[in-house]
Amino acid sequence: MCAQHLVSAFEVAGSILKNHRRRLRKKLPAQIPFVRRLFMKAENQAYKLDRVNGILDLPIRAGCHVKLRLVMSEYHRKYLDDESLSLGSMTLLPDKVIVTIRKHAPKPYALASVLSLDTNERSLDGVLAKEDQITAVVRAEFPEVSVIQSVHHDKRRMLQKKKSHDRRTAKRLCAREGKREHHRIDHRMHEVANAVLSFAEERKSMIILEDLTGIKPRRDKGFNRRISMWPRRKLHQIIEYKAAWRGIPVAKVDPRYSSRKCPVCGRIQDSRKGAEFVCGCGWHIDRHINASINLLQTAASEKAAGGLRFDPGAFQHDVVMVLCGPNRTVRLEPNGTSGIRAVA
Ligand SMILES: [Zn+2]
Repeated sequence: MCAQHLVSAFEVAGSILKNHRRRLRKKLPAQIPFVRRLFMKAENQAYKLDRVNGILDLPIRAGCHVKLRLVMSEYHRKYLDDESLSLGSMTLLPDKVIVTIRKHAPKPYALASVLSLDTNERSLDGVLAKEDQITAVVRAEFPEVSVIQSVHHDKRRMLQKKKSHDRRTAKRLCAREGKREHHRIDHRMHEVANAVLSFAEERKSMIILEDLTGIKPRRDKGFNRRISMWPRRKLHQIIEYKAAWRGIPVAKVDPRYSSRKCPVCGRIQDSRKGAEFVCGCGWHIDRHINASINLLQTAASEKAAGGLRFDPGAFQHDVVMVLCGPNRTVRLEPNGTSGIRAVA
């Protein structure tokens, strides 16, 4: 075997062991790790890919090579023809080959504005600030996500009930439901992220998001279930990696009091109820937009936003620009068991 492949073999084994140890530490159920699926990983020095004709050349030992012709589509061509991208590691599986692509981080642009976004269960809400003024109120909506979540939640519960005599089948079917749910939410999150990033890119904005690490979901008694923080964190991850790919700066700020503070007088309210934030000083605005103004203020005070100063009191309540509306084509699965319909 080629010496280069040894390095990858060690690396793969090392990461499997690391995961195993993590499971033991967290006292999660763990078995002695065993790789069932046959695969091979090679670093970019240990294989050759002809980017024009898609022939993958794998050295096995001195004078012995395996050549595979990869099926290439327009999608693959788009990346392989782009000379600014280089090839990273390659993973060979029984049914597919995964080649990672590397890109030098693009040069960030000179900032012309700041886009501050508050992440909510059904939307991203925010403001765009230019120099010392808020110039636009923006919203990207994804109400389907919580609908998808509740549909799948109901389906899983039904499966558990129906298959209560067979826990193994129930577990397997529930896992499949979970996978489907993740796929559908993922897809939607990508659309939302693209809409937001294109808006930011056109205006040469820095994006401000709340730092969600460490935030626990609140119990939603009305539905007697917990809407997880997962889609929001996932959305942030997608925004962050896509932004890095496109050279759009992103900063994260501490969201403490962002939903309860008045950005004009600084008073902190006890409750966060109601769609509108109303303060004794006369300031009133949509609660989500208010939160995004607070995030913007935090970023400004932390100089994350490049020494931005602004006066929220001078802000005229603008018409909301919808970056991404609800996707009306989202289809509930035909055998859905829930009576909940997609809401506009
Ligand atoms: Zn106030």
